[in-house]
Amino acid sequence: MRAAPHLLVIGGGVAGASVAWFAGQAGARVTVVDAGQHAASHVPSALVNPVRGQSGQVARGALEGMRLTWALVDTLEKAGIGVPHGQTGVLRPVPDDRTRQKFGRNLPPDLPHTWLGPDQSPAPLTPGWPHALWLPEGGWLDGAAFTAALLALAGADVVRARAQTWDARSVTLENGEVLCGDAVVWCGGSVGAAWAGEPGTHRAGTLLTLDRAVAGVPVSFGAYLAPARTGGVLGATFEAPTATWREPALPAASLRWLLGRADALTDLSGAQVTGRWSGTRLSGLVTGRGADGVWRLGGLGSKGFLLGPLLARHVAGDVLAGLRV
Ligand SMILES: Cc1cc2nc3c(=O)[nH]c(=O)nc-3n(C[C@H](O)[C@H](O)[C@H](O)COP(=O)(O)OP(=O)(O)OC[C@H]3O[C@@H](n4cnc5c(N)ncnc54)[C@H](O)[C@@H]3O)c2cc1C
Repeated sequence: MRAAPHLLVIGGGVAGASVAWFAGQAGARVTVVDAGQHAASHVPSALVNPVRGQSGQVARGALEGMRLTWALVDTLEKAGIGVPHGQTGVLRPVPDDRTRQKFGRNLPPDLPHTWLGPDQSPAPLTPGWPHALWLPEGGWLDGAAFTAALLALAGADVVRARAQTWDARSVTLENGEVLCGDAVVWCGGSVGAAWAGEPGTHRAGTLLTLDRAVAGVPVSFGAYLAPARTGGVLGATFEAPTATWREPALPAASLRWLLGRADALTDLSGAQVTGRWSGTRLSGLVTGRGADGVWRLGGLGSKGFLLGPLLARHVAGDVLAGLRV
């Protein structure tokens, strides 16, 4: 009998954990090498939102990706690993008729949605928003819990270390140990791209954790308010893009910007800030096999939990299909 293929995955964020999950489901043996540092996937509350940004773009695969993410949450829960989440719907207020038309042009017919007037909103909005798009299948989830649960249930061996170098079939750790496998998949995210000296577009942002969910459902335009495991969050990735990863910080001007965006969305009075989480995401989606033979899944931007698992399923499938030929 042929031995199961052995995949070495660098990075244990949502990309790497999802690759490990799907490869494990397909019968592969998986080793995940994860430094466990600066994972954007540890975002305390991530939106699962198919209609993006201030232009309402809908990425290819958004509906399928959203449903797959919820299906995975369900599978994890049935296996006894609860992931704090709410498939509550997502509310996207828009500031004017022109933006509503722009959003409308981007909405695929098969994406369930409803346009609401100011008095129909399921969350209290600051006066002045003429329309809000309601996306009933969206919601939020705890990024760290989702990622950890996937990794735990994937049955992968997890090596807590930083990979120093790698090629198509091996990974050398910082301590000089060499791991060998049948394929290597790089899922190092923003910090990993910087460690590897690769060019990229990095964008930092911050979530303020709040003692309560100000709006009972996620509300997003510019910044987002969402429920979280305990209380709620106010956040966005909003710092100017940089060509490399930098230790994320929250300058006073950024804090003011964030609070201003929140005030524009809803009434924050009475909510207490309990802490802060800052992270950096990498833009410029890369999937597939590079000229060096190393597979990659990276550059998930602000769609890590919308598209990460779906793209990981494709990558894991392609890696294993290549090994079985
Ligand atoms: C403030 C903020 C808010 C966000 N909000 C949302 C949201 O609402 N919805 C959404 O879908 N997405 C959101 N995102 C984006 C999402 O978090 C990312 O797209 C996603 O987490 C990226 O996952 P990843 O697995 O590619 O990388 P990461 O999660 O960064 O994981 C990479 C892992 O690889 C490890 N690693 C890197 N290099 C090496 C190496 N050489 N050796 C060993 N380990 C290595 C790192 O230590 C890390 O643990 C947000 C991001 C930020 C910063």
